[in-house]
Amino acid sequence: MKTIAIVGGGSGGLGTANRLAYKFKNEIKAGNIKIILIEGSTKHYYEPGFLEIPFNLLTKENTYREEKNMLAKGIVLVNENAVNIDLKNQIIQTTNQKINYDYIIIATGTSYDYDAVPGLKTGTENFHALETSLKLKATLNKFKKGNIVVGVSSLPYKCMPSPIETVFMLNDFFLKYRQRESVNIQYFYPIPMAFPEKGVSDAIMAKFQDKNIESTLNFQLDSVDNDKHELISKTGDRIKFDLAIVVPPHRGSRVIDDSGIGDKMGWIDTDAYKLNIKSYDNAYAIGDATNLSVSKSGSVADAESIVVSNRIYEEMGDFAPHTLYDGSGGAMVLTGLDKAMMIGSSYASKPSLTPESYSFYWLKVIYNNLYWNLTANPVLNGVE
Ligand SMILES: Cc1cc2nc3c(=O)[nH]c(=O)nc-3n(C[C@H](O)[C@H](O)[C@H](O)COP(=O)(O)OP(=O)(O)OC[C@H]3O[C@@H](n4cnc5c(N)ncnc54)[C@H](O)[C@@H]3O)c2cc1C
Repeated sequence: MKTIAIVGGGSGGLGTANRLAYKFKNEIKAGNIKIILIEGSTKHYYEPGFLEIPFNLLTKENTYREEKNMLAKGIVLVNENAVNIDLKNQIIQTTNQKINYDYIIIATGTSYDYDAVPGLKTGTENFHALETSLKLKATLNKFKKGNIVVGVSSLPYKCMPSPIETVFMLNDFFLKYRQRESVNIQYFYPIPMAFPEKGVSDAIMAKFQDKNIESTLNFQLDSVDNDKHELISKTGDRIKFDLAIVVPPHRGSRVIDDSGIGDKMGWIDTDAYKLNIKSYDNAYAIGDATNLSVSKSGSVADAESIVVSNRIYEEMGDFAPHTLYDGSGGAMVLTGLDKAMMIGSSYASKPSLTPESYSFYWLKVIYNNLYWNLTANPVLNGVE
């Protein structure tokens, strides 16, 4: 009996567990393979929805499902946190048990390091969890006038276009439902561009100008002055706000630090093509948990999940594993409350944007449905 353990049942981990369960359904039935999914939360979240809730594009009920109801037949769910992962001895320690494995896939995502920016947690809002997204919705419903600041505390962070999308949706929200002239919308970013790729940054800056959106670039957030309602940069510059929506600093999951298997930010050193954890052939990392130079996004996690499940399937079928990751990922980028663009990239092509259209907006909103039926439960892509 071979055991394949997946740690983290979010976007990448759940898709991988389900893919493997479909691929190995006969072996699982015969008792030759066991697939264990270790997930600390009882709920599985659709995070892109957190961005849509404040603008009434999605209800909160569409952003989560019970994890246990999302699993293909044959997967053993351990609803506990992994507290230590010993790659050398192939043992995972959870809150209550030790699990030995033959293969491991680590998909523990990111955590938010609010303590890195004093004042951030109490003084600002964000769209990075269901509760904070609902709070932001309530704030926006009451907000009539003042300076709204949207920005990013530090790189890397997940869903790179999300603060830009927020800015564009705020612009439309105040045009459609309030008085746009009563608010000033200001974007800030920690590098001298609006996005880490120049072509995309230039296109975004042109749209900011059209829509009368201010931008403050190269603003590296140091702290938030809650009394004065000001963001303070590392060089002492200040931005005054009435409402600040700030992407919190990201780092890897705590178990990565505690197991000593990540870099100083908790990202796992991963082979860019094979996706194995460097120095281990039976250990993989996917999704936001890796140190790869690709976006931290669900589309990347899903593309990597296909590669890893294929490689394990190939190897167990006595082939040399040959499926490789090409660095691809993409997303629909909302440019308002009825338009969106597509952004896509791979190792061979830097990020580029399509023109905006209603069709991409429609796809972004309808994707929630596709996610539950075809991504989290990948009955088409990557299943033999
Ligand atoms: C507001 C917002 C909008 C977004 N929009 C998009 C978008 O439009 N398109 C897109 O492609 N991506 C988008 N993303 C990004 C996307 O949601 C993530 O990149 C994706 O979920 C990453 O998948 P993952 O499996 O790596 O991590 P996650 O989905 O975060 O899953 C990690 C899982 O690991 C579990 N876990 C962590 N530590 C442990 C432990 N010690 N033991 C057990 N379990 C553990 C967690 O509970 C979690 O379930 C968005 C993100 C946000 C926040």
